[in-house]
Amino acid sequence: MIQTSISINVKKLLDGLPDTIKLVAACKTRTPDEIQTAVDAGIKIVGHNYVQEAEESFDKIDGKIKWHMIGHLQKNKVKRAVKIFDMIQSLDSYELAKLINVQCGKIDKVMDCLIEVNSGKEDNKTGILPEKVEELAVKVFKLQNIRISGLMTMGPFLGAPDDFRPYFKVTKKLFDSLKVHPVISPYMKYLSMGMSVSYQEAIKQSANMIRIGTDIFGPREN
Ligand SMILES: *Cc1c(COP(=O)(O)O)cnc(C)c1O
Repeated sequence: MIQTSISINVKKLLDGLPDTIKLVAACKTRTPDEIQTAVDAGIKIVGHNYVQEAEESFDKIDGKIKWHMIGHLQKNKVKRAVKIFDMIQSLDSYELAKLINVQCGKIDKVMDCLIEVNSGKEDNKTGILPEKVEELAVKVFKLQNIRISGLMTMGPFLGAPDDFRPYFKVTKKLFDSLKVHPVISPYMKYLSMGMSVSYQEAIKQSANMIRIGTDIFGPREN
């Protein structure tokens, strides 16, 4: 997409959002130049789905920004991922948590992680079932180099904004219960839900972090 429209899109989005909502630019398939344009227009968090792609733009992007992993993290990429990312939004198993913990321990880092909730209980989705989230959070709480700081969910791949509502509601309910949980409540801060088609509905359902690709960069060519 032409750079000027990226700038305009970012500014329009930011103007329409309250300060309490964090905007993550979902950068999959975008070039470093496109990402830089978004950052220059005010993006503070860049989200990547692939470690390799993030590495390719990491040294090329200037600015005080945070890097979030929003895609499924493969176990064999954890060591590289923890070097780049400030947050992993796609934690969905204890095995993955242990690996993140070990690799973060080696570089003296505490990784903020969101547990990815499979709110739609669909077989082909990443994320952990809502009823398993508390158990995972409690187990992970004991790991020194990980801090569970909230929940993330995707919802259905396709659908009208209204179709997302039940998925967001389930995740919000879980978030509320974890916020008052005797063990894991202290860092429960972020509820990451909503993409280009669904972010307005997500905000109505109390999301305080949204992940936007298409509405910033235009349609993906794949
Ligand atoms: C691509 C992606 C988004 C953004 O999707 P758009 O429809 O392009 O806004 C958000 N979250 C995740 C995890 C993604 O992979």
